[in-house]
Amino acid sequence: MSLLSDLINLDLSDSTDKIIAEYIWIGGNGMDVRSKARTLPGPESDPSKLPKWNYDGSSTNQAPNEDSEIIIYPQAIYKDPFRRGNHILVMCDAYSPHGDPISTNKRHHAANIFNHADVIEEEPWFGIEQEYTLLQKDVKWPIGWPIGGYPGPQGPYYCGTGADKAFGRDIVDAHYKACLYAGINISGTNGEVMPGQWEFQVGPTVGVAAGDQVWVARYILERITEIAGVVLSFDPKPVHGDWNGAGAHTNYSTKSMRSDGGFDVIRKAIGKLEKRHKEHMAAYGEGNERRLTGKNETADFDNFNWGVANRGASVRVGRETEKADKGYFEDRRPSSNMDPYVVTSMIAETTIIWQPESSEL
Ligand code: ADP
Ligand code: MN
Ligand code: MN
Ligand code: MN
Repeated sequence: MSLLSDLINLDLSDSTDKIIAEYIWIGGNGMDVRSKARTLPGPESDPSKLPKWNYDGSSTNQAPNEDSEIIIYPQAIYKDPFRRGNHILVMCDAYSPHGDPISTNKRHHAANIFNHADVIEEEPWFGIEQEYTLLQKDVKWPIGWPIGGYPGPQGPYYCGTGADKAFGRDIVDAHYKACLYAGINISGTNGEVMPGQWEFQVGPTVGVAAGDQVWVARYILERITEIAGVVLSFDPKPVHGDWNGAGAHTNYSTKSMRSDGGFDVIRKAIGKLEKRHKEHMAAYGEGNERRLTGKNETADFDNFNWGVANRGASVRVGRETEKADKGYFEDRRPSSNMDPYVVTSMIAETTIIWQPESSEL
């Protein structure tokens, strides 16, 4: 074993300038992060200087056998915490050979919205709270739970410590450091209400980079859980019953919300979100209706409501924002398996670009 880890930790810079680039993309079911590696002649920090690449889309449910080639375009570079040195992780999006974004490429549309002049002007910040659940590999039941049974009721686990309350902390902490190493703007982690469930936050990050960073943070977590022999789940309601589901609360602000009198801008933005509640819910994650029951710190799926410091609301404004009369708000509706490209760009589109008909105001 020690020779194997010696080789994995080999410092290539002793013998070559070449580096390894791990190209990452999103597969056909929308939550499957895929990756493959290639050698590049030397270090690189500008994604536009990296070669495009391709993969077999018939193996990811994204193309027919007869015409299976999908082209991936490098969009963002992070340091590789697994290989270290000058090696990199490369977040890509996917196109047909003719250069059209394929249907699962949600980044392309998001980048268009974030390139809109009015949106650039407002410098939209996102802070995404990614919740997830760790499962025992063979039985797909949360770690720390008795197989086929349940732990004691929720209460002691949220931000808890101790062998009977916190399950999987090494994975969480390894992921935290790996993300910081990679250059992801990870802002914290915490243990969740349901035992075996955890959260990390990414942000505040501007525009489409928020989506890139959440996806690469998910990728890094998949890799770490792979090493640990634990299964990562983004199911919005992994255990039926009186157990908290998993969300991806999306905190959001624009330049005018962060400026004096911004609470008024926030109120108007929330009004627009309310008018488009149905459209947003349809795009906020598969199976979210199992989670948004109106119980376990959630709002009801069909009804929009908002409030200051209200964790049972669709949208929550913090006490600090109310007091300062400026700041940000939290969209609590997105589920843990949401696509951050879709959610962030939709919030920006609805609140900055969209102008409701005067009859709707
Ligand atoms: P909660 O109290 O809901 O658990 P967290 O502390 O888990 O909130 O997450 C809040 C997230 O919002 C963090 O990632 C934080 O960096 C981010 N955030 C802070 N200020 C802003 C802002 N002005 N605009 C957008 N996001 C912000
Ligand atoms: Mn949180
Ligand atoms: Mn949480
Ligand atoms: Mn939250």
